[in-house]
Amino acid sequence: MTASGISSDLEFRKWILQQPEGKTLLRCYQCGRCTSACPIAAIDESFNPRLFLEKIILADESLADERLIWTCLTCEQCEVRCPEHVKIPEILVLAKVRGLVVGNTPQTALDRARAILSQGRVILVNDPMLKTRDKMGLPSLGSPPVEQLGKILKELGTIERVESVESRYGGAEDE
Ligand code: SF4
Ligand code: SF4
Repeated sequence: MTASGISSDLEFRKWILQQPEGKTLLRCYQCGRCTSACPIAAIDESFNPRLFLEKIILADESLADERLIWTCLTCEQCEVRCPEHVKIPEILVLAKVRGLVVGNTPQTALDRARAILSQGRVILVNDPMLKTRDKMGLPSLGSPPVEQLGKILKELGTIERVESVESRYGGAEDE
């Protein structure tokens, strides 16, 4: 099954379990250590990696509307603490892929994708930032290889995917 065929909850669970990282979900016994190790959960109790995994396991339809997944830092603290070595950050990345497919992609995520395409950076660098760096004596940022990056992203289908989501949904409003 390709990523574009994961619009239903059962299809999504099946697709997750077909991915090398996604298979590790079968080892989750819902102990919650991942959530207790998570820095985002520490400041926002509605962000709960254990619960996200439970929703995938149960093919819970509310997961498709889940916007909090996009705030995951991919810091891997959860995975380090997981007794079953479940690939939690990677599974949450797969859940973001689903967000792209069903159009539940926050505008900030699309803006970051655009920034990578235009500047080769996740965060756009502006003049005030450069002046502040100068004042602080930080080294020059140099120029990212935007052209080569563009070729790689085109080859991977990333540009097409971003444009498709933008044209269909224009990005979901951020909360
Ligand atoms: S720590 Fe691991 S086993 Fe425990 S709930 Fe989280 S993913 Fe599941
Ligand atoms: S990778 Fe995501 S879910 Fe895991 S601890 Fe970091 S922020 Fe939390």
